[in-house]
Amino acid sequence: MADGKPSPKHIILTSHPGKRVKKAGTVNWAAPSSQERGPIIGTVTEPADRNVIGSHAGSYGVYRALAVAAGDLAPAWKPDLTNTEPAEPIGPFPQWSEPGRIVSLDPWGHMVAQVFSADLKAGRDIRPTIAVTKAHINMPELKDAIRAGRLTPDGTILNANGDIRVTKAAIDPVWYLPGLAERFGITEQALRRALFEQTGGMYPELVTRSDLKIFLPPVGGVSIYIMGDPAALADSKRQVACRVHDECNGSDVFGSDICTCRPYLAHGIEVCVATAQVGGAGVIVYNRKEGRALGEVTKFLVYNARKRQPGGDSARAYFERTECVAGVQDMRFQELMPDALHWLGIRHIDKLVSMSNMKHEQIVSQGITVGERMSIPDELIPPDAHVEMEAKKAAGYFTEAPVAADLAAVKGRDLKE
Ligand SMILES: [Zn+2]
Repeated sequence: MADGKPSPKHIILTSHPGKRVKKAGTVNWAAPSSQERGPIIGTVTEPADRNVIGSHAGSYGVYRALAVAAGDLAPAWKPDLTNTEPAEPIGPFPQWSEPGRIVSLDPWGHMVAQVFSADLKAGRDIRPTIAVTKAHINMPELKDAIRAGRLTPDGTILNANGDIRVTKAAIDPVWYLPGLAERFGITEQALRRALFEQTGGMYPELVTRSDLKIFLPPVGGVSIYIMGDPAALADSKRQVACRVHDECNGSDVFGSDICTCRPYLAHGIEVCVATAQVGGAGVIVYNRKEGRALGEVTKFLVYNARKRQPGGDSARAYFERTECVAGVQDMRFQELMPDALHWLGIRHIDKLVSMSNMKHEQIVSQGITVGERMSIPDELIPPDAHVEMEAKKAAGYFTEAPVAADLAAVKGRDLKE
């Protein structure tokens, strides 16, 4: 150790655990009940119980390691789950056990304290991978919608001060590797090898422990915001509105005008509120996939490359510039996105607030029917975002609006402006 003291215990390799570690409880993915499925156990303190690769909390698992290394957190600490159960019930729904429906999250993840209470009492370290709570949210755009008469406060779903009552959920990723491989049309072996190599060999069990089928990847999860009664989402007789939104910190939080993310998100929430007000429910599925899952560093590099190219930022070269820097145009893999919709029990979306063909295609191909598709109203597009919008429309994104005839003529702002 750095301070010169000897390490308190020797290190146990999980890649080749040998006789010290007996085989953990099997996970029967997509089994019809929680008991037949069995708990997902990612504990790092009781190796005999582990039945996954990786550890809990997605990318935040690295901060937990820092807290332990800094001496702020006892390595053997276990959470006290008293009163943490969901503030609103979600499921169980038939989709949870339909083969191949859900492969990237644990549908029982929010019910751990209830359905595996006996295991918890027996001292097993089982952690929730989903939490469901309630909140009020408030955005200036929604107040604008009230002022403009597009929304009317009802005192229940939408208050006069612009507060919206929501049920919200946070989901950590839980990947069932055989299911993931099937969804991408590749072999499980190829998937495991790429995950092992591209994380710099971070998880040797990916290639040594084929008996472990579950991976808790160090990536961001999903936030769900539900307006109206969550039960309406699974009720075919009630209206469902949905926006599937991929994180864009620059626009969503800071209001950057180079893209349409925040205005589109606000528009999605507006449609969700209106749908909830007629007895249905609306849901925002917010995926932590910054900059098309290329990350914000790549995204900002692309902005510079776009704005410094000869002739300036134009809709014609929008996708090309991304590919020059990242090697691909997009890494979001909408293939996994519908899992959150299946978790909520959704079979039909009446209003899909999205122009993305990739999202629409995946939702429909995975058995969820879509009624109306809604593009962002033109008046909500910020000045510098026309480059992105026209490039997307020309590439075939869904829109009711006309597509610009000359993409080279759609120009963005210069870096110096
Ligand atoms: Zn954006």
